[in-house]
Amino acid sequence: MDEQCIFCQVVAGEIPATRVLETDQVLAFRDINPQAPVHVLVVPREHVTGFGELPASSPTWPALLAAVQEVVRGEGLDNGYRLVINNGARGGQTVPHLHVHVLGGRAMQWPPG
Ligand code: AMP
Ligand code: ZN
Repeated sequence: MDEQCIFCQVVAGEIPATRVLETDQVLAFRDINPQAPVHVLVVPREHVTGFGELPASSPTWPALLAAVQEVVRGEGLDNGYRLVINNGARGGQTVPHLHVHVLGGRAMQWPPG
């Protein structure tokens, strides 16, 4: 755990969050500032700074992807949804702990901002 990291603190239960899915390796919770009717963040429990910092061979990837799929099913997003991973300052990442945004419940626009 990175003591300074907001999402590590969420994982540890030190910051309250509305949890929607918990597995051994992954936690999913509602975004505090939702950008769509459904806006869930799916994070590895272990502290990983971002997309590029988790080796492609890590077993955390399939665990993360399985959790994303379960959230999609659980939130009833069969009509469509968007997955986003922001990376670095210019990619719009504000919390340096890897997270997948699951956005849905409305029609999405393209291109994103
Ligand atoms: P990003 O800009 O991709 O790093 O996304 C960070 C997201 O975390 C933003 O959508 C924030 O609204 C969200 N966020 C920040 N703090 C919290 C928190 N304590 N609980 C839930 N979501 C949070
Ligand atoms: Zn962290």
